[in-house]
Amino acid sequence: MPVVRDVPAYPVPGYGLRVLGALEDAGFEAWVVGGWVRDALLDVPMHDVDVTTSAPWQETEHILAAAGMEVHETGTAHGTVTAVVEGLPVEVTTYRVESAYSDRRHPDEVRFVHDVREDLARRDFTVNAMAYHPERGLLDLFGGREDLACGVVRAVGDPYRRFDEDALRVLRAVRFACRLGFDVEPRTQAALVACAPELEGIARERVGQEMDGVVSSGRVSWALRHEFDVVARAVPALMPMRGLNQHSSYHAYDLLEHTARVCAGVEAFAGGVPTQALRWAALLHDAGKPMCVSIDENGHGHFRGHQRVGADICRDVLLGLALPHEVANRATALVRYHDRHLSATSAGVRRLLRRLDRACPGEAPSLAFQLLDLQRGDALGKTRACAQRAVELDTFEAALAAELARGMTFRVRDLAVGGGDVMRALGIGPGPEVGHALTTLLDDVVHDRVENDRDALLAWLVAHPCDTSALHPSNPA
Ligand code: ATP
Ligand code: MG
Repeated sequence: MPVVRDVPAYPVPGYGLRVLGALEDAGFEAWVVGGWVRDALLDVPMHDVDVTTSAPWQETEHILAAAGMEVHETGTAHGTVTAVVEGLPVEVTTYRVESAYSDRRHPDEVRFVHDVREDLARRDFTVNAMAYHPERGLLDLFGGREDLACGVVRAVGDPYRRFDEDALRVLRAVRFACRLGFDVEPRTQAALVACAPELEGIARERVGQEMDGVVSSGRVSWALRHEFDVVARAVPALMPMRGLNQHSSYHAYDLLEHTARVCAGVEAFAGGVPTQALRWAALLHDAGKPMCVSIDENGHGHFRGHQRVGADICRDVLLGLALPHEVANRATALVRYHDRHLSATSAGVRRLLRRLDRACPGEAPSLAFQLLDLQRGDALGKTRACAQRAVELDTFEAALAAELARGMTFRVRDLAVGGGDVMRALGIGPGPEVGHALTTLLDDVVHDRVENDRDALLAWLVAHPCDTSALHPSNPA
């Protein structure tokens, strides 16, 4: 059970006090609210300060600017401005309540109110619905402190009504449960399951932000096991994993439990700090399997091509959720190669780096280490016999580290010759042939056919003129 303080474990930071002080000196009421209060009672690292106030947002803007703060109109339709104090942002929102979210993005109507208690009542979960003021103390109307102490996420008010108003709260409940390591209170849980289908109507970028929070919590394996109805509505590509028997002597679990184990495995192998791309890749590494399954005459399951199909699914899912392109590219490359046999030779290392560099230029070394953690996690999620592979990958890691330390060749710019050398050696001018010759040379070096030495490369180039016919498709008459 979490240890919960009666009062915040640390004082409201000076930049937050300046905002409270300016609003109260002008005759309004103001409180610190939401995540800062929750995290300070749990004594976990300090959260940004959000403030709620009786001042209308125009007054807030005026008062804070007059007190010398930089103020931005970040969400005035909802009564929010952001003050930047000592370089740190403080979101200040006018007390408000809201009606239904019929466009699934924004509440139809925001009504400003005078009483902080109404503002707290519109918040999603009891642990997020507490306010704190350094002199007036903790304002906890819904038992948030006790729920923190018992480790439960509970909706404020009737959970069915609250999820019906805004179905995104269904996924937020799972995000907070994952992040805090809490359970969901039983009535809230029943409402989650009943309302989860509504998530499909929610704007994808809102879903993406919360789902990314679930994945980044490091406990998505918990969510897969305990809140699958919710996460599979957020990411429908997960849906066919439940109950998918892999019909394989390498697999002791169905695809869903396997995926949960791989997600937990990468957390362990990456020391609790996998990258965002690695976490998403673990979740989606086998997403192509349901579409690629075939059972042979001996009853064994095969999933030919699932790496490629899974990579496409991964890209579509991440971009569909409006996650950054770089994250989608990295995760896609990891899924694409998650099953690749890695041979711990110099050429094996270079081949892998070359492939990863093509997928994500400039990121191959870092992706290679992430791929190792994904493969280790994958090995742990199969059978006991396969788990041994997780250890065997140490040999590849050692080869990778040694090759990187040697300053190995896996990009065109690592070659000991450049475009000018190629033009002189072949007697050609600038054009696509030069690039083609360089990439062909690189492949020859990567595959150990020639050494990355200037004289050797130039001699090789002349002795093995590459086929450039593909660069000059003949015109059909
Ligand atoms: P985090 O550290 O994850 O940002 P947080 O508590 O600050 O935690 P936010 O999503 O930033 O969470 O929201 C700030 C506060 O606004 C919440 O604590 C909650 O009180 C309220 N809130 C946010 N979104 C909703 C929502 N969809 N419905 C009801 N209340 C919400
Ligand atoms: Mg926040």
